[in-house]
Amino acid sequence: MKQKSLGSAIMQGKCPQCREGDIFPTSIFSYSKLTDVNHRCPHCQAVLVPEPDFFYGAMYISYAFSVALVINVLLILNFFFKDPEISVYMITVVISNILLLPLMLRYSKVLYLYWLGKLSYNPLKAKK
Ligand SMILES: [Zn+2]
Repeated sequence: MKQKSLGSAIMQGKCPQCREGDIFPTSIFSYSKLTDVNHRCPHCQAVLVPEPDFFYGAMYISYAFSVALVINVLLILNFFFKDPEISVYMITVVISNILLLPLMLRYSKVLYLYWLGKLSYNPLKAKK
């Protein structure tokens, strides 16, 4: 079996240990359970929530995503639309934030789990 790269495992929201099991039980389009995380990996049984409230720290990553989004929207509007009204900036920032919220919430948790979850890749766990 071909090994999944770190980048593709992060992009697909896979378990850090086996890179096969899903971190999230639902699809990204399920708004009601958007932030739910599997307590254990369905493939290798690795603990994905090491302690209660573990993912509170992910809000810092989510905040960084939001700031990066605002800066990018401001730069793009300023560059391509020749400095429009302030209301155009505000409406565009709000709409793009709402549209990208599911992605930012999920990837902040994925990155936080990969960064501080204390799980390292084990190719033997991927086979099973
Ligand atoms: Zn796993």
